Amino acid sequence: MLKKIMYTLWIAMFVLFVYYTARSTNFNTFLDAVENKTFDLRQSIIVNSGYKKANKNIVIVAIDDASYEYILEKYGEWPLPRDIYARIIDYIEAQHPKSIAFDLMFVKSLRSKPGADKALADAFKKYDNIYAAMNFDNQSVDVRKPVELPQKLSINLTNYSQEIDFDALSFLNCRSILPEIIANTSNIGIINVSRADDGILRKMPIFVKYQGEFYPQLAFRLGMGLIRQEEGYNPQEYIIDRSSNLLLNNRKVYIDKDGGVILNWYGPTGTYLQIPLYRLIDAIESGQKFSYNFSNKIVYFGTTASSLFDIKTIPVSKIYPGVEVQATYVNNLLDNSFITKVAKPVTVTLGIILAVIIGYLVINIDSAAIVTLSFVSVYSLYILFAYFIMKYHNLWIGIVYPLMLGLIVFVSAFVVKYIIKSRDFEQQYLLATTDGLTELYNHRYFQEQMKILVEQSKRYDIPFSLIIIDIDYFKKFNDTFGHQAGDAVLRQVAQLLKQSVRSTDIVCRYGGEEMSILLPNTSKEVSITTAEKICKRVAAKRFKLNNYQESNVTISLGVSSYPEDGETPASIIDAADKRLYQSKHNGRNQVT
Ligand code: GH3
Ligand code: MG
Ligand code: MG
Repeated sequence: MLKKIMYTLWIAMFVLFVYYTARSTNFNTFLDAVENKTFDLRQSIIVNSGYKKANKNIVIVAIDDASYEYILEKYGEWPLPRDIYARIIDYIEAQHPKSIAFDLMFVKSLRSKPGADKALADAFKKYDNIYAAMNFDNQSVDVRKPVELPQKLSINLTNYSQEIDFDALSFLNCRSILPEIIANTSNIGIINVSRADDGILRKMPIFVKYQGEFYPQLAFRLGMGLIRQEEGYNPQEYIIDRSSNLLLNNRKVYIDKDGGVILNWYGPTGTYLQIPLYRLIDAIESGQKFSYNFSNKIVYFGTTASSLFDIKTIPVSKIYPGVEVQATYVNNLLDNSFITKVAKPVTVTLGIILAVIIGYLVINIDSAAIVTLSFVSVYSLYILFAYFIMKYHNLWIGIVYPLMLGLIVFVSAFVVKYIIKSRDFEQQYLLATTDGLTELYNHRYFQEQMKILVEQSKRYDIPFSLIIIDIDYFKKFNDTFGHQAGDAVLRQVAQLLKQSVRSTDIVCRYGGEEMSILLPNTSKEVSITTAEKICKRVAAKRFKLNNYQESNVTISLGVSSYPEDGETPASIIDAADKRLYQSKHNGRNQVT
């Protein structure tokens, strides 16, 4: 039990150390980048599973490469003359679409025919379901004077979230569109995009800041227009709650810390029906009936031509026109299917639960293979869970941080387990080779070492010696002072022996009150001197029997040496035994 607690504390300390070291570096940025890739992968698999269906009512009138060339050829200019747009709008409006949005900027053009801009601006006055785009930037205010935008284009926002920082979406300048359009409509949205460090577009701003006011994204403005038409919901003020959710009637739109919504993709380019603009113009100009009916459609105009540079990379596609990003945005807003990032504490808790499971498995399962297999299984299940919760609930739970935490716990639990195991082994080895009372080596160890010494001394042709020691009249000592006093003396004699020999000498309890010393690489003369020194020391010492009694004891010693007294363990021991007997016979307290 105590050991388990120790394990856990060790692992926890190690994990915290590694975790905080990792966090404090740009390792963090790296992990975020990897997490983004797991998002892309999840999105791609979901899209390929065919589970998500894009809104069939969204249709794109595409200014594709063919249309671009058609316009250049037919009108000798680009952009398309504005009065043509006005006529297209009239044509589509006659079929009662839900709305028409232009992911194009109607900026001032010097080449505009007189009256053409006005014709387009009038269309914006005539129909209240048409939307225009505008863009903010940070170009020098010295070169271009920032325009003042009318109040009607901005929205009121109250933000209770501490997480979201709209300052990253603050702009200094505005690339304005025709003032006539601005005068005629408030249906104008911003088409600024936000990309991650890896250049992939996963999020889009919802509100951007300009001159202290908030302006909505074009797709948001269009989507809210549709929600107003269909649900009668028309807020005068937008509220973002503490959990970073924009509250829209029965919808909650999660906004990430940099002020963007996370788009939920439906497929690669071509998910929405694309009608080439030139075919529409051709039909209108020639007075023929166009094959497609725009009734009840959400019509988005935008460029898909590669020569017009509005191509993005998104999680599920490398080439994806900006207008389809807009379409996806509207689709997400209407379906209430933007991605919500799960709150950090939830991810951290999930990570800790997984790590605890992993730590428990590593400590309790002995087989490394099974532990590794369970680690892989546990995290595979987690990844599967993360996938399904995104597929069915549009939730993004972190994979990389929990996995990192799990890996750290996995490795550190292994390391700690190994350290403790090897320490256990040492302890058991000690237990198997030493004697509990005297802490000297035991008889078994003595026999092993004896064998090794004989072999080594033979091979290298060097001597070694053995001293056998027996305490004199110990039976009587026990009888007089009791067994406990006898044990105390045994311990102290053992200590004294250890202190009296070299560190390479091996002191053992031979049995009962008999001890032995193996002296490697020591000749007979030297070992006899050692034996005599020990004999004198023991005789001179006052041994403590208990708290109030002291006594003297003496020992008798027998010395034998390799090779002169024998060349096998048995013969050498026998010789030493005989000499010990001799010492006893000659009156004890002496060396033979
Ligand atoms: P001698 O001088 O001839 O050696 O006399 P002795 O009484 O010491 O005789 P012997 O060596 O035959 O006696 C061994 C005695 O040592 C028997 C036992 O009472 C005592 N003894 C053996 N092991 C222990 C022990 O672990 N603790 C204690 N207290 N006494 C022990
Ligand atoms: Mg004895
Ligand atoms: Mg004895």
